[in-house]
Amino acid sequence: MKAKTGDSKLQQELTDMLRRKFHGMSVFVEHSARWKRTCVRFVWPGFAGLLPEERFQRLASSIPEAFRESRLKGFVWIEATPDESIDDVLAMPRSEDVADREAEIYERLEKIDFFSALKGRLEPEPQRSCKGDFSHVQSVLSNKRAGEAQTRDAKLLFIRHGAYCDCQVVQAVHAELAKRHA
Ligand SMILES: [Zn+2]
Repeated sequence: MKAKTGDSKLQQELTDMLRRKFHGMSVFVEHSARWKRTCVRFVWPGFAGLLPEERFQRLASSIPEAFRESRLKGFVWIEATPDESIDDVLAMPRSEDVADREAEIYERLEKIDFFSALKGRLEPEPQRSCKGDFSHVQSVLSNKRAGEAQTRDAKLLFIRHGAYCDCQVVQAVHAELAKRHA
């Protein structure tokens, strides 16, 4: 097991690194009996409404790769809001959960003209209109009266194809899905 002092030092370094971008985040580095490994738990109110993979992507892109490799390798990462337990987070859906339903999710989105609506929202410069999240995906789907489950499935499908924000959906994922499920 790691020395306690080492853990609290890492904890502090991560907190300092993430403080500016993730205001109010707490970081806990602790040995996990469940995984018999070190677990780093990031607790932040701003994670509310985000899927686990969106949370991870945001964090990972804010922690330099060299640091992840040298200091966090092999660790279990948990990203939670202050109200969520580790079990709550583990029970949340992952993109692999939609693997068998890809075609069906895609067809439902085409049926409601989701992609052209999203494209229209982001024109003329998708990258500039994009806030780095799925806020336009969310609002287009809500305008189309898609329910919570359909919205969640759509995001999981996009994440499965490597998109974590609105502009990536219109610029890369839509074409790939169209080709695959034509
Ligand atoms: Zn984007």
